Amino acid sequence: MPISFEPSEGSLVAQAHYRKVALEQMRPISRRYDVEEHALPREWVDYWWKEGRWGAKGAPASNDGFITVCLQAEQLCWGDAGLYLRMPTPALGGSAVGAAGTKEQQAKFMAGFRALEGQPIWGAMAITEPQAGSDAAAIETTAEYDPATEEWILNGTKIFCTAGEGASTVPGGFVVVWATLDKSAGRAAIKSFVVPAGTKGMELIGCEKKLGIRASDTATLRFENCRVPKDNLLGRAEVKKQDPTRTGDKGFMGAMATYDASRPIVAAMATGVGRASLEFLIEELARQGIQIRYDAPPRERTAIEKDVVEMEADLQAARLLTWRAAWMMNKGKPNNLEASMAKAKAGLAVTKITQKAVQILGPIGYSKKLLVEKWMRDAKINDIYEGTQQINQLIVARRILDYSSAVLR
Ligand SMILES: Cc1cc2nc3c(=O)[nH]c(=O)nc-3n(C[C@H](O)[C@H](O)[C@H](O)COP(=O)(O)OP(=O)(O)OC[C@H]3O[C@@H](n4cnc5c(N)ncnc54)[C@H](O)[C@@H]3O)c2cc1C
Repeated sequence: MPISFEPSEGSLVAQAHYRKVALEQMRPISRRYDVEEHALPREWVDYWWKEGRWGAKGAPASNDGFITVCLQAEQLCWGDAGLYLRMPTPALGGSAVGAAGTKEQQAKFMAGFRALEGQPIWGAMAITEPQAGSDAAAIETTAEYDPATEEWILNGTKIFCTAGEGASTVPGGFVVVWATLDKSAGRAAIKSFVVPAGTKGMELIGCEKKLGIRASDTATLRFENCRVPKDNLLGRAEVKKQDPTRTGDKGFMGAMATYDASRPIVAAMATGVGRASLEFLIEELARQGIQIRYDAPPRERTAIEKDVVEMEADLQAARLLTWRAAWMMNKGKPNNLEASMAKAKAGLAVTKITQKAVQILGPIGYSKKLLVEKWMRDAKINDIYEGTQQINQLIVARRILDYSSAVLR
């Protein structure tokens, strides 16, 4: 399959623009919102809503939209991954509406995000429950139909919902909630529902205190007789074997397809954090008079050169896998295998790169005076959410061997 990773002029302009945004808007407040976990980064949120989201002014049009999204994610997470996750955007909620919703639903629920006016709003997606994460089919949140009012009634608890605080409380936003219509019917009965912010019965219980990405609000949400209109079910309500090729009839398959779009973005985010660490390491070594000789024969490399070359190789491999998955997404090609490959590689690469940077820098890497220790903490999540390292490797194995999830688990 011929693949071209040559970014368009529009993409390159966008890349330079987001690098500047990361440097000027994110880096200066990076430490503050790491320390003040859960505080709303008002200056960043307002900047993003009013200016950031419209991209580079006068940028040439490009038709590689999804690749630009990944370039943006890498640049902004080079700035700060926690602040990136706190941006007012439809986020995973938007990906879910795009993957499982009909055209009408996409127009309706995304309207607030496309509006020129108004206050910042957020989208989120709530799948994970205390007893179900990797095994999403084990969710217990229920959705019951009330024919008298033509509403769905949701009951259950969702944990670790990124952007869940903003999406559940600020009017105009929404949370996409996964629930089962019939626990005995397995995956076919799992559907996703758009719950607008402020809906009665959706309660924000609190936010999780975390190792990294501390600027991001990771919420616990409780649904108690939470009613949403009939049309807030994404796709169709029938419980039957799914046909993933039919728009608006995607059910669990459609909801899972959200990951084909979100995993390349997470991989790009990971690459951004890894690059922040590696760039800083190389600059700091240069300040100490140590230049990395990339062209030295392997047997003549110093231990640090060997480490840095390996870090570079891991970073570039992760980026190329990410661009391939994004390129396929952009072309409308199935990319389930490639999205998981990119995510698995990037999650591991960023974890190794950021830990190695702290190691090589020693005490200054460990000190809170610099951001290197923070990047190490911010990195780890990329190996956990959107499918853990193990789960993404499992998906890759299934796809390559052509085994179903029932056979290889
Ligand atoms: C900061 C943060 C933000 C998050 N944001 C969201 C969000 O926005 N929306 C949302 O719905 N969820 C979110 N999550 C949840 C996240 O996606 C899950 O925690 C993750 O998928 C792991 O699922 P689990 O919690 O059930 O862990 P488990 O599945 O219990 O995993 C525990 C360990 O077992 C391993 N494991 C599990 N199954 C297998 C297997 N079959 N083979 C080999 N190893 C296996 C895992 O890899 C892991 O190492 C977030 C989590 C965090 C920490």
